[in-house]
Amino acid sequence: MLIFRQLFDPQSSTYSYLLGDSASRAAVLIDPVFEQVRRDAALIDELGLKLGATLETHIHADHVTGAWLLRRRMGSKIMVAKAAGAEDADRYLVQDDVIAFGGRRLLVRATPGHTGGCLTYLLDDNSMAFTGDCLLIRGSGRTDFQQGDPAAMYRSVREQIFALPNDCLLYPAHDYRGLTVTSVGEERRFNPRLGGDIAVGDFAGYMANLRLAHPRLLDVAVPANLRCGRPESEEGLAADPNWAHLHYSFAGVWEIDPHGFEEHHGPLQILDVREEEEFTGPLGHIEGAVLIPLGQLAARTGELSQDKPIVAVCRAGSRSAQATMILQQAGFTDIANLNGGMLRWRAEGYPVEGGSS
Ligand code: FE
Repeated sequence: MLIFRQLFDPQSSTYSYLLGDSASRAAVLIDPVFEQVRRDAALIDELGLKLGATLETHIHADHVTGAWLLRRRMGSKIMVAKAAGAEDADRYLVQDDVIAFGGRRLLVRATPGHTGGCLTYLLDDNSMAFTGDCLLIRGSGRTDFQQGDPAAMYRSVREQIFALPNDCLLYPAHDYRGLTVTSVGEERRFNPRLGGDIAVGDFAGYMANLRLAHPRLLDVAVPANLRCGRPESEEGLAADPNWAHLHYSFAGVWEIDPHGFEEHHGPLQILDVREEEEFTGPLGHIEGAVLIPLGQLAARTGELSQDKPIVAVCRAGSRSAQATMILQQAGFTDIANLNGGMLRWRAEGYPVEGGSS
């Protein structure tokens, strides 16, 4: 079975696509975004997938790819079109190349027009294709910079994409109106730029008169993407916290396991955010914990020290996750949620103060 997730970067309205093979757990990620790497890596880990490769549909002008960062973090191979002219990739793709992940495959179709190095990735059973900035939902990518060429785009769409079965689902690299997916049949009928009886001259005329603004990030994003997303300096990269063994959840919270907590030596604040009667109730509490119920936390953060890391605790780990968000907003940096709360802490046999056995 195919594991499939559509991911969104709100800053650039970019979609990234995670495809995994459920039997082997092998996965690929199409068009990862630099700022979303931590999120995407957490999802890949939580789904138990192994990221074999990141695939670029093209050299983006509106965001920096997460390919380099993911390779550093997860060992994935960077794949990009040969025609894109990028350096430092692991594999350079051309028309009809095949990218295997476990028992599944993506087929490479060259679809230039938006840039000279645009690719569309087609799933082995023709059920879905990832069109990048070539065909967008009821639209198309722009053709006015980066070797853009309306005639080439027209041919790419008509010969490489519209030739697919009508029920093949199409997933673009962007959508600015909240649409997520379309199909070949739909776009053949309703795409106002490229569908129906529109001829290449009509399309070129349409594209010549779009009068779009220069993309804000073009001058930063294109050079960075030609390096597959490697930053000029690694100094500015936000490092993962290292005051304890933590992991980042897809929900966006730094978590610590009871075991990691026990292994931690050094100053620490334990913040219990349950209600008073729970704190003194049958589950007991961790020795040294300070009680500030979640509902009072925002008003009482002044009682906590900025100098010592904080581990937030509750019954099962959900209110305390919320507590870490509140602390973050209040300017605290070294914070973690005790995964599974007091229930897991007790189930794994760690010591409690008070409570009943
Ligand atoms: Fe683009």
